[in-house]
Amino acid sequence: MGRCIFSESLNESTLNASTGAPLGFSAGPDDGRAGMRLLQAAAAGTSAAFRCAMDDLVTTAFPSDCRVCNRPLLRSTVLPICDICRASVQPQTSSMCSRCGEAIDIDLESACLAGQLPDEGLLCSECRADEPMFERAVAYAVYQGELREMIHLLKYEHMDRVAKLLGRMLAESILTLEAEAAQELLVVAVPLFPAKQHQRGYNQSALLANAAIAELHHSHPQWQLRSLHTLMERHRDTRSQFELNPVSRRVNIQGAFRVNANAIVPGCEVLLVDDIYTTGATARECARVLRRAGANKVWVATLARAQTPQVALWDDTRLHAAQRFGYEAEGLSDAIAP
Ligand SMILES: [Zn+2]
Ligand SMILES: [Zn+2]
Repeated sequence: MGRCIFSESLNESTLNASTGAPLGFSAGPDDGRAGMRLLQAAAAGTSAAFRCAMDDLVTTAFPSDCRVCNRPLLRSTVLPICDICRASVQPQTSSMCSRCGEAIDIDLESACLAGQLPDEGLLCSECRADEPMFERAVAYAVYQGELREMIHLLKYEHMDRVAKLLGRMLAESILTLEAEAAQELLVVAVPLFPAKQHQRGYNQSALLANAAIAELHHSHPQWQLRSLHTLMERHRDTRSQFELNPVSRRVNIQGAFRVNANAIVPGCEVLLVDDIYTTGATARECARVLRRAGANKVWVATLARAQTPQVALWDDTRLHAAQRFGYEAEGLSDAIAP
C-alpha cells in the first residue's frame, strides 16, 4: 500500500550512472540539467515551474514506465499510470437497456419519434424474459482497453492504490442513480469467498466502493451513502465461471451469498457495488438475497461493463439475445472469474 513507484525503477545501471554524485545531477544522460531547472524554478518562486522542474528531476533520477502502456512517465506520481491512459477511459455512450445497462443497437431518436419506446424504457431481451430483482444496474465504461488493464493491476498485481482513481469513475456512474435512489443508501460490495480475499489481501470491489463513497461525500454531502460490506458474505466458494454459459453461471452462483439479517433494516435501499458486470448472474443473485432479507430496493453500480458485440434488434419478433460465449474469445474471461 502506498508503495513509491520510483523504488521499482532503481536498478544497477541507474545506480552506477550516479556513482559519486547525487542521482540525476552530474552523471546521468540528463547531465544535471534537471537539477539546474529545479534550482532555477525554486529561485523563480512559481509553483507551476517548480512542479515541472521537480517532475523533470524525479523522472530523470528515477525513470519509470506507465504500467498500462509501458511509455515513460513524464511526471512524478505515486500511481504509475500516464495521463494518456487515464484520459482514454471514457464513459459509455451507447443506447442501453434501462434495467441492466446492456448495450442495444438502436436508433433511439427514430424509435422515440415513431412512438416505439414502451413506458418502461428500452429493455434488452434478457430483462424482458426474466426481470431482475434490482432496480437498475449502471456502469461507468465498457470493460476494454486501458480500463481493463487498470482493473488487472488492482485485482491481480496488488496495486490497491489504483482504487482511488477508479473509484472516482465509479462515483460518476453511482451519481446517475441519485434522482431515483433513496437519500440514504446502504452500500455493500459483492463479497469474495474468505479464502480468496485472504489470498488477495483485500476485496477490490470494497476498495472501489469506499473510494467512490469518499468522492461522493465530498461532492454531494447531502446524499447519505453508508458502507456496510459486512451485510453480505459469500459462504460458498463458487466454481470459476470462466467456462460456463450464462445459464450455468446462474446455477453456479445460486446460494453462494448470505445476508446478515441482523444488519439489514427492513425497507432500506441497498447499493451493490462490483468491479465488472458481465452476464449479471452475480448481481441478480445478490439482489435476490438482499430483497429476500428485507431490502426494499437494490441498485447496482459497477466500474466496468462487458458489452456483447452483437446487436439486439428493437422489434420483439426479431429481438435476440447476444451470444455471450464470445466473451472468452474476446479475452474477457477474467471478467467473470469470481
Ligand atoms: Zn500509459
Ligand atoms: Zn437488460
